[in-house]
Amino acid sequence: MKQLTYDVLIIGGGFAGSTAAWHLANKGLKILLIDSKPWNRIGDKPCGDAVSKEHFDNLGMPYPEGEQLEQKIDGIKLYSPDMSTEWTVKGEGFEINAPAYTQRILREARDRGVEVMDLTTAMKPILEDGFVKGAVIFDRRKEEQIEVRAKMVIEATGYSRSFRSKLPQEIPVSEDMDERDADIAYREVAYTREDIDEPGYLKIFINQTTSPGGYWWYFPKGKDKVNIGLGIQGGMGYPSIYTFYEKYWKEYGADVDRNRMIVKGGALVPTRRPLDTLVWNGIIVIGDSGYTANPVHGGGKGSAMISGFCAARATLNSFEKGDFSAQSLWETNLCYNERYGAKQASLELFRRFLQKLSDDDINYGMRKKVIREEDLLEASMTGDLQLSVADKAMRVIAGLGRPSLLYKLKNVAEYMKEIKALYRAYPAGPDQLPKWKGQVKQLILEFDKVISK
Ligand SMILES: Cc1cc2nc3c(=O)[nH]c(=O)nc-3n(C[C@H](O)[C@H](O)[C@H](O)COP(=O)(O)OP(=O)(O)OC[C@H]3O[C@@H](n4cnc5c(N)ncnc54)[C@H](O)[C@@H]3O)c2cc1C
Repeated sequence: MKQLTYDVLIIGGGFAGSTAAWHLANKGLKILLIDSKPWNRIGDKPCGDAVSKEHFDNLGMPYPEGEQLEQKIDGIKLYSPDMSTEWTVKGEGFEINAPAYTQRILREARDRGVEVMDLTTAMKPILEDGFVKGAVIFDRRKEEQIEVRAKMVIEATGYSRSFRSKLPQEIPVSEDMDERDADIAYREVAYTREDIDEPGYLKIFINQTTSPGGYWWYFPKGKDKVNIGLGIQGGMGYPSIYTFYEKYWKEYGADVDRNRMIVKGGALVPTRRPLDTLVWNGIIVIGDSGYTANPVHGGGKGSAMISGFCAARATLNSFEKGDFSAQSLWETNLCYNERYGAKQASLELFRRFLQKLSDDDINYGMRKKVIREEDLLEASMTGDLQLSVADKAMRVIAGLGRPSLLYKLKNVAEYMKEIKALYRAYPAGPDQLPKWKGQVKQLILEFDKVISK
């Protein structure tokens, strides 16, 4: 078999892999990025395509522009199940053309020295002495298998987890997950019959009947084009996602002209805390493969970028040290958990709570402002749930309203704080990982009991 040698092999060129390549380019390393898709389809996956502006700012990444940008976003409008309450949460972002933006990032990385092979799939890992040392890849163009030896592998295979899942179980990054910790999602992009009223606002509809455990969205892509879809909780035995779509799409997108559809498709997105460790000897896992998406709204592009950035930083430091052990790559975990992972863990608890609420509870909570718009914004940005209003409400309406709901919410906020604190005390190295993992698991078990009462 043909053999090639690189410093770093990046598997997957989606938002996570391309960001890692972009940050690693031109730093004196010999890098190969492979993706199974043909070049013009890289970055093309079912998605709502909404990304907050802060991610680009925080990571020094270029804003989408020209054909990469479909609509500038000014905020989100959130609707209660009975549609009687509308909340507006301001926040800048972009509705992007994901393939165009991803290919731009890859092109910039390639222009600065990263080799990119499309139509090429990582088939299996090369493992030696407990270290990942590369992969056997298949080049579909030349129909040949190649043994790629690399000092390090960055695994960015998306929800498929198609590379890390082939690692032996004793390597912690092979960890699987519960299907209920993912959302099944489907969307269509189509033209509308009339101009959209406020194209700068993303619309989100919460309703446990039309999208159990998830939500519907209506994301404008310009004045007469929209990305409309829904997510539902996985592993619950619900009817297929298409059944929900066909039954309810008109409620949220009556103006959509399905005869002028541009694209449609479904996929899964993880809605949990990140992998307990994103690294092991010779490997860093990033993006959806590392479960880096936001547990409450399922947005994962921004956090995929954060994980790519953290992976690049740890990779460069490991090359300086000449050490590719789990301990050396560990700073990926510290970097990621500080920037996003701790918040994700806290939002996983919030998501577990939200999925248990009835439409009546949500109508009530939104109408009475048990949580206010600004608290929600704060929670989505930091993972801290402020309950000043609920505290007050507890005293005033206990006995009248829903004291049990308010009491639970108070508890939820406490647990969210606790798990965040646990993530702040993330182990300094792999040795202490098992103990810490046990503590996290215990806390979640306890939490589930509390919210099930
Ligand atoms: C319907 C839906 C709506 C969503 N809406 C939003 C949203 O509005 N905003 C948001 O931020 N996020 C959203 N998300 C989540 C978001 O799409 C993902 O979190 C994000 O795209 C993950 O990026 P990634 O790079 O980790 O994975 P991917 O984009 O899946 O990229 C993985 C890449 O790896 C390649 N690959 C896989 N296996 C191999 C292999 N063995 N060898 C070579 N290549 C391989 C694939 O071809 C692919 O190109 C949504 C998800 C879904 C399903």
